[in-house]
Amino acid sequence: MKFHHHFRTFHNKAFINNQWVNALSQKTFPVMNPATSEPIGCVPDMNVDDTQHAIEAAQDAFQIWKHTTGQERSFYLRNWYNYLSCNKEGLAQIILQECGKPIKESEAEIQYGNSFIEFFSNEARRIHGEILSSPVPDKKIFVEKQPIGVVALITPWNFPYALVARKASAALAAGCTCVVKPAEDTPFSALTLAEMTQAAGFPDGVFNVVTSSRENTPKVGSLMCTSPLVAGISFTGSTNVGKILYKQCSSGIKRLGLELGGDAPFIVYASADVDKAVKGAMSSKFRSCGQTCVASNRFFIHCSKYDEFCGKLLEQVSQLKIGDLQDRATNIGPLINQAQYDKVSTLVQDAVSKGARVLTGGTGTPLLYQPTVLADVTPDMQIYKKEVFGPVVNLLRFKDEEESVCMANDTLTGLAGYIFSEDVAQIFRVTKMLEVGMCGVNEGAISMAEIPFGGVKESGIGREGSHYGIDDYTYMKYICIGSL
Ligand code: ADP
Repeated sequence: MKFHHHFRTFHNKAFINNQWVNALSQKTFPVMNPATSEPIGCVPDMNVDDTQHAIEAAQDAFQIWKHTTGQERSFYLRNWYNYLSCNKEGLAQIILQECGKPIKESEAEIQYGNSFIEFFSNEARRIHGEILSSPVPDKKIFVEKQPIGVVALITPWNFPYALVARKASAALAAGCTCVVKPAEDTPFSALTLAEMTQAAGFPDGVFNVVTSSRENTPKVGSLMCTSPLVAGISFTGSTNVGKILYKQCSSGIKRLGLELGGDAPFIVYASADVDKAVKGAMSSKFRSCGQTCVASNRFFIHCSKYDEFCGKLLEQVSQLKIGDLQDRATNIGPLINQAQYDKVSTLVQDAVSKGARVLTGGTGTPLLYQPTVLADVTPDMQIYKKEVFGPVVNLLRFKDEEESVCMANDTLTGLAGYIFSEDVAQIFRVTKMLEVGMCGVNEGAISMAEIPFGGVKESGIGREGSHYGIDDYTYMKYICIGSL
């Protein structure tokens, strides 16, 4: 096949200016397979000097890339997409090993990531300006969209492939060049994405990847936020780190896209079709073992449906298959690392000590935490306020719509929300009232390249995906033609 490519599975070098490079310090750090706790390779432990080189390479590349047409950028992105989609089985194995996702989910992530590259390869040709109506006859008002410059893309471990693909494809389509800093737990997918930009013939310096250990990352992040050569940052990760970056970006008034934590409410109303609700619960809660920012975090069930929902949910949960990641029937893999495992375990223990009942699960062996359902959860439990990021369902009852909306909005974050109702008027009332950026109605899987992904309140700033996803990477320039 034309686009088949023998790529390296676990790169041991970073990627700057189309070159595979070590850290200037020659230091490296190991990356573990969460399923075996064995190292799968080492990558360069880069610091500010290495990052400065990457930023400079991206800045040089921008001087050329910004003059390409949308059609040319579309061609590169389409070529990248072709290489990636032609090699998806091998790429899925990288996710499986560095992130611990079962094979079917790893493949789904490749598909999802590639869908952004394909989408933005088309969108690159449609970044149009506008001619606005002038209030006076001798002036004409033009609005042009221009790429902002070099962007730094900082990504988390839960979608090591798709989030690099989502951010980079929008940035590149807009005419920006990028420096990617993947999560220290999962750098390999980003490095292989880089290799595929080489296969696809991208110009030098347009796409760079800097790898850094947990220790070096804060300094690298700080340089990205303060360097005058960087025009913007796009970050997906924890709310805490998002706040640090927001602060740091203030010194240079950088463009900033933040996609931070969620605390998604999942509400089942009296009119709901419980089978649809259970299906939605399974997909929104157990995908990636609950380690997604759009995962349902608090389940509010109308008291008339509570027993039916619990019974049917438990039946589905008992059918989840845990363990062998290569088995296509497996749904649940390990949590990413010990810290994440300890967090989930502590939250469940705290809830149980305050009166929550374990209907199933409630324990595990590192790093495999069992799918868990907790009943009788109350707002004084830590698990009610914290993003669990694990395979735990917290069940609460409610009596009326007002109470459900009030509890759903009782959080500082607002990324996704899910409601189940067959009452059309209620659907419009509740979707209007929920303080979230994205709302699934009778649906638990809402992500795709065509939608504006993002949140309100402390869940972030900006949107990724859809034609809105280009906005983070473009400036609007107004040009007035006068004396006409
Ligand atoms: P998590 O808690 O899920 O690991 P983080 O927000 O810590 O989420 O990590 C998301 C990304 O942010 C990773 O690439 C990580 O290396 C990076 N990161 C962590 N701390 C900082 C920091 N101070 N500055 C910049 N990036 C950071």
